[in-house]
Amino acid sequence: MPPPIPVVPPPYHSPERERLQAQARRFAAERVLPVANELDPVKGEIPRWLLEEMAAEGYFGITVPTEHGGLGLGAFEYCMVAEELARAWMSVASIIARAQGAGTGVADEARRHELLRRSARGEWIGAIALSEPDAGSDLAGVATRAERDGDAFVLTGRKRWTGNAKAADFIQVLVRTADPGPDERRSAGLATLLVEKQRDSFPEGLTGRPIDKIGYHGFVTWDLEFDGLRVPVANQLGGENADEGAFASTQQWLNIARVHTAARAVGLARAAVEDSIVYLQERRQFEHPIGDFQAVRFKLATMAARVEQARAFYQHVAHLIDLGQPCEREAAMVKLLATEMAAEVTGDGIQLHGGNGYTTEHRVERHWRDARLTTIFEGTSEIQMKIVADRLLPRSPLG
Ligand SMILES: Cc1cc2nc3c(=O)[nH]c(=O)nc-3n(C[C@H](O)[C@H](O)[C@H](O)COP(=O)(O)OP(=O)(O)OC[C@H]3O[C@@H](n4cnc5c(N)ncnc54)[C@H](O)[C@@H]3O)c2cc1C
Repeated sequence: MPPPIPVVPPPYHSPERERLQAQARRFAAERVLPVANELDPVKGEIPRWLLEEMAAEGYFGITVPTEHGGLGLGAFEYCMVAEELARAWMSVASIIARAQGAGTGVADEARRHELLRRSARGEWIGAIALSEPDAGSDLAGVATRAERDGDAFVLTGRKRWTGNAKAADFIQVLVRTADPGPDERRSAGLATLLVEKQRDSFPEGLTGRPIDKIGYHGFVTWDLEFDGLRVPVANQLGGENADEGAFASTQQWLNIARVHTAARAVGLARAAVEDSIVYLQERRQFEHPIGDFQAVRFKLATMAARVEQARAFYQHVAHLIDLGQPCEREAAMVKLLATEMAAEVTGDGIQLHGGNGYTTEHRVERHWRDARLTTIFEGTSEIQMKIVADRLLPRSPLG
């Protein structure tokens, strides 16, 4: 029996979306899946030829307006493609987020247009350095300093967890240009700087050390140390005096990132369901395919239902984003529910594979290792609960 094929449902359906989904599904199966299985065990990076093929499909500019060379589509299509890519390899679904109109905040108009165009074509792919050793969930605690020296900022401090930092063409860094005043919020004095760099190296004043993770291979993750790196003042996103907006725009970016993460989680959980459908018919015990046993059938049915439920929710929230409606609460809700679902459903997939699920001979362990991360990065499940609760109750004095 072939795996179930989810299609874009009404009212979201359009022939263009169905075509884009079918193309992404084919691309994921034929171009991504074979490489994922080869490269994940050796903890390699996404190969450049694959990035170029993704660029040719337009995946780095899904949300970039057509006048800048993008596909001119919305969060819905962006998440839909991300689900298809994550079904094959989460890292590939993640790297498309490191373009998508990066450079929008550059003040100089001609330069902004040039960066948007290169970003949409996949020629300018970056990294995002928000987290630090002592500022993870609490981003307002960012301590990396950017001191003004003439027409440049001089950066000093440490970042942690910066994915793709060395391979990137640029790193977007959240820094502190000033300490908050006694009556100001803790986020006052934060700014976002664009560090432009050569691919596959670090510029003078920046060093990096790769972090050995248990999954999410293809996306090498770095500890970074800034020691006197100079960044032109013109590279402050939002322009000079944009400090006030840096934290707010980071929060807005995180909203879209959360729905994108929910879509990636759905792709991973779907992978576990589809792999299990095949395995349950192949593996025989007690003289029957194990898929004949009701306990096994019911587990698979519940897994599949949870995937459908999470997809319907992320499509709804992506649609709200495209309508321009405020949806911070819903973005946090869907990130929470979809990623917790994916961690459990991929774990169920391992259970359905029995001992074989606990080996590297079957893909379901990779889906589980990657899904496990989705409840942690882009804001942990607990932080999503906090965001939701803060919109249901008066804010707690504990922050
Ligand atoms: C593989 C990987 C890739 C990543 N990629 C990037 C990247 O590219 N760029 C980037 O900037 N960051 C990245 N991150 C960082 C990621 O966003 C952080 O790990 C995440 O936000 C959690 O921060 P933390 O690890 O410091 O955990 P902590 O903040 O120390 O949290 C530890 C535990 O305490 C809980 N907790 C903390 N505060 C509260 C609270 N107020 N209420 C309830 N519970 C709380 C958390 O939920 C968690 O369970 C990545 C992380 C990983 C693991």
